[in-house]
Amino acid sequence: MQADCIFCNIAQGKIPANLVYEDEHVVAFHDISPAAPVHVLVIPKKHIANLLEVSIEDCQFVTQLMTKIPLIAEQLGLAEKGFRTVINTKDDGGQTVHHLHVHILGGRFMTWPPG
Ligand code: 5GP
Ligand code: ZN
Repeated sequence: MQADCIFCNIAQGKIPANLVYEDEHVVAFHDISPAAPVHVLVIPKKHIANLLEVSIEDCQFVTQLMTKIPLIAEQLGLAEKGFRTVINTKDDGGQTVHHLHVHILGGRFMTWPPG
């Protein structure tokens, strides 16, 4: 828990969010500024700043994060047509919240390459 981290505070229930999934290790909630008809963020409860900070000791948290995505996508009704997952890392990646998170974007066709 990092006191000044907005996603740590959401994970702890100290800042409200529209949760779609929660377990011991992972929380998923609707993005406050959706970029698609469905836009959900999946985070580890443990504070990890970004993908560059992931070490082999974090493998259980990363495994928990990734293996909950199928469940969440199914629950959001995205499993049949598919969806985009995005992890932004630092400035050039467009990261604005420095707590590791996976964007799940769906409900429309996603173009490539991204902007
Ligand atoms: P990033 O730009 O770091 O990859 O993604 C951060 C995302 O968090 C953005 O899409 C932004 O809209 C979302 N976000 C920022 N603050 C909040 C918040 O307080 N609540 C929720 N639900 N989403 C947030
Ligand atoms: Zn955090």
